[in-house]
Amino acid sequence: MDPVAVYVHTPFCPSKCGYCDFNSYAMEGEIIKRTVHAMLAEIDRTPHFGRPAKTIFFGGGTPTFLESQDLARLLEAVMRAHPPTPGCEITSEANPGTVDAEKFASMREAGFNRISIGAQSFFDEDLIRLGRVHRSGEIERAVANASNAGFDNINVDLMFALPGQSKKAWCENLQRAIALGTEHLSLYCLTIEENTPFYKEFLKGLLDLPSDFGQVEMYEQACEAAEEAGFNQYEISNFAKPGKECVHNLCYWNCEEYVAYGPGAVERVGNRRWTHVKHPRLYCERVEANEDLACESETLDSKTLRFERIMLGLRLNEGVDIQVAKPDAQGLQQAIERGWITTEGDRMKLTALGKHYCNQAVVLVA
Ligand code: SF4
Repeated sequence: MDPVAVYVHTPFCPSKCGYCDFNSYAMEGEIIKRTVHAMLAEIDRTPHFGRPAKTIFFGGGTPTFLESQDLARLLEAVMRAHPPTPGCEITSEANPGTVDAEKFASMREAGFNRISIGAQSFFDEDLIRLGRVHRSGEIERAVANASNAGFDNINVDLMFALPGQSKKAWCENLQRAIALGTEHLSLYCLTIEENTPFYKEFLKGLLDLPSDFGQVEMYEQACEAAEEAGFNQYEISNFAKPGKECVHNLCYWNCEEYVAYGPGAVERVGNRRWTHVKHPRLYCERVEANEDLACESETLDSKTLRFERIMLGLRLNEGVDIQVAKPDAQGLQQAIERGWITTEGDRMKLTALGKHYCNQAVVLVA
């Protein structure tokens, strides 16, 4: 059996951030224990039992909102079902407000070897505006605690184009993130998603967002600062020290298969992609009754797979293999003429300009 990427979705957070449209719930108490129990049962009876793990990734939600013992039990179950391949990258996302030295030590002991810290900003006013539970000082502490616990592969997530954010403030955020000395940076533009409190504020004109031009400038600031600090940009929003690229996310961008567990988790094996029922209570009921966990399921035809291979692969700096992706020849020519795409040997990739027109370039060539 080929090794596969394994994703585990823990859907709980201490509170819900104003911009968040992830499958996450501000719940506490018995439902958390019940969900962990159901996830353990789901993993134990997976049809993929025995298929080795190429990578394991705990995301959410906030995995570190779970108690250390529950995180360890879940990872143990995953490793029983999916024996990790040598050097297997095992990541957990971590919210700085939900971790301490003891929790990181216990996670390292359990087998996690990579931590992704959701910092988002070093300014408390931004963190309050975003609805985050942590404050700036907790970011440095979280990185130091993770490092002291033995983690030598740490990512920091930051967001730009926040309400009221200036270029100067973004620049300071970048410098403070770089000064932490971590191996990886994920630098994302805030997107306003429907069905979020931020979307309602946006419709009422209450969100003071940077202009499109301002966002482009902030993105360019990010790329320059990361490069100067020795990070290689390997994906539109991701920057790594040599050899520290996120192997799990590379599996997604390379359109590989992934097995997934937990409420709302999405799995793709073969041509089938399906989504677990999203609400934790419904998920628990289905697992406990041994019923089908899917709320959506689709069979990916060759046209869809081709589109996704191009859409995801173009996000990577190394681009996509033209022989494999088989782009539309006329569309590719147009994208080259517009300066969005360049070709090098068998590969096509976005240019620096093309990174600002990624979606339009994909529509042309796919
Ligand atoms: S911590 Fe992350 S998953 Fe949880 S509410 Fe905030 S953005 Fe959503």
